[in-house]
Amino acid sequence: MTTATKYLEGSTGPWELVIGLEVHAQATSKAKLFSGAATTFGAEPNAQVSFIDAAFPGMLPVINDMCVKQAIKTGLGLNAVIHKFSVFDRKNYFYPDLPAGYQISQFKHPIVGQGYLDIDLENGETKRIGITRLHLEQDAGKSIHDQRPDATFIDLNRAGVALMEIVSEPDIRSAEEAQAFVKKLRSLLRYLGTCDGNMEQGSLRADVNVSVRRPGEDLGTRAEIKNVNSIRFIGQAIHYEARRQIEILENGGQIDQETRLFDASKGETRSMRSKEDAHDYRYFPDPDLPPLLLTDEEIETLRRQLPELPDVKKKRFMDSFGLAHYDAALLTSEIEIANYYEQSLEELQKKISSPDDLAKSGKTLANWILGELFAALNRDSLTIVESKVKPQDLADLIVLMAKGTISGRIAKDVFVDMWETGANPEVIVKEKGLEQVSDDSAITACIDRILAENPDHVADYKAGKDKLFGFFVGKVMKEMAGKANPTVVNELLKKKLS
Ligand code: ADP
Ligand code: MG
Repeated sequence: MTTATKYLEGSTGPWELVIGLEVHAQATSKAKLFSGAATTFGAEPNAQVSFIDAAFPGMLPVINDMCVKQAIKTGLGLNAVIHKFSVFDRKNYFYPDLPAGYQISQFKHPIVGQGYLDIDLENGETKRIGITRLHLEQDAGKSIHDQRPDATFIDLNRAGVALMEIVSEPDIRSAEEAQAFVKKLRSLLRYLGTCDGNMEQGSLRADVNVSVRRPGEDLGTRAEIKNVNSIRFIGQAIHYEARRQIEILENGGQIDQETRLFDASKGETRSMRSKEDAHDYRYFPDPDLPPLLLTDEEIETLRRQLPELPDVKKKRFMDSFGLAHYDAALLTSEIEIANYYEQSLEELQKKISSPDDLAKSGKTLANWILGELFAALNRDSLTIVESKVKPQDLADLIVLMAKGTISGRIAKDVFVDMWETGANPEVIVKEKGLEQVSDDSAITACIDRILAENPDHVADYKAGKDKLFGFFVGKVMKEMAGKANPTVVNELLKKKLS
C-alpha cells in the first residue's frame, strides 16, 4: 500500500511535489439542485432556466431529493462519513453569469466528511488518498464571448445544476498519481451512476493545487490551477507548475498563493488572481433553506442499493480467476469493460460445468479481452460497447478452445473472422471446417508421410539433434493446416521417433 516518493531533481537538489485536488462532479439528475429546470446537455441557450435559476425576486429554492441521494451514494462509495446534519450557505460574489449574486453551497457543515479513495498505479501498486469532504453546490451560468466582437452573451442553462465538490487531502505526490486519482474517481462515479464523468461536456473538472518542498520540510505555499477539464491537461499543468515553482525557489524567490489558469494551447499555467485580491465570500446560512437532516435509515437504504464497486470487483476477479492485480484493475477500470467481461463469463458458466475448468477459462477470457479484443478496438477506434465481437460470441470462442475443438492458433484466425463478419465462432468453425483433428489415424498417417519424406532429418534426430523435433511438429501442423491437436501430434511423434 505504500509507494516510495519520487523526487524531482532541481539544480540545487531534490524536491517533493505535493498535490491536492478539488473535483467538481455534476450530480446525475434530470432536474437542477433547487429547481425543476432540465439539465440536458447541448440544449438551446437559456432553454432550461426557471425563475429560481434566473434569480427572480421572491422565488424560493426547493431541494431536489435526487441530488441529495447522489451525494450520499458518492460519499458511501468514497468510504466516507455521511453527516446527518448539513447546512446550505450563500457564497457571495458578483459575476455576470451568477444572477443571484451568490452561489448556494455548503461551507462549515458539508453533507459528506472524511473518506478515502484507493488509486491504482502503473507499477501495479495501490495508494490510498484521503478525501477531506464532499459538499453540494450550484453551478453558475456561462459567459459566451465568441459570438459577437462587441457583446458578451449569457447562457443560464448550467445555472443551478447540482455539483458535488469532492476535495482530496494533499496526499498526491506526482502528476501520474493525480491522473490516477481522477481516473479512479471518474470510474467510481460511473459505477455508482452519480455522475456521467463526461469531461468534454464539463460534467467533471478539477482544480489542481500544487506546491513543492524539500524532502522532509513542511508544506510549501500552493498555487491553485482552476477548472482543468481533461486527464491529459491535469498531467501537463502539474509538470509545468512544478518546474515553475522549483525554478523560482531555487533562484531565491517565493511562491505567491494564487489562482492560475492552464492554457492548453501553450501547455502553460498563468496567473489569474493573487491572494491579495482573493474574495471575501461572506458565507452565511441561506435563510430560505433549513438545515438538511438525514436519518440512519435513509443512509442505510442507500448503502444497500450500492452496486458492487470497482475495488471489490477487482478482488473478486483476482480470487476467482487468478488474475494479476494489473489485469484485474484494467478489467474493472471502466464499468463497461467489467460488464463485457461479466456478460461473457455468464455465457461460459452455461457451457463449462467443472469449477476448475471454469476458473481456467475465465482467465483465458480475461487475456483475450485485454489482448486481441483491446487491440482490435484500438485499431478501429471503438469503445468496448461498440465492439464488433459480442461478449457471448467471445465466450463461445473460449469454449471451443477449452473443449479442444480448435487450437489457440486457429482461434486467432477465427477471431479475425468474427471481427469482420460479426458471426458466431461455432458457425465459422463449422463452415470453414476448422475443427481440430485429434483422430490418431489421420495424424499418424501424416506423420508417417513426413518421416518418409525426410530420412536425413530422421537420421540426424536419432543421432542426437534433439532440436529437430520442432521441425517435425511444424511440418505436421503445416500439412494439417494447423488443425492437428498439438498434444496428440507431440505424443505420436515421440513414439514414432523413439
Ligand atoms: P481552499 O478551500 O481555500 O481552496 P483548502 O485548505 O480547503 O483551501 O484546500 C483546498 C485543496 O488544496 C485541498 O485539495 C488540499 O488538499 C489542497 N492543499 C492544501 N494545502 C496544499 C499544499 N500546501 N500543497 C498542495 N495542495 C494543498
Ligand atoms: Mg479551493
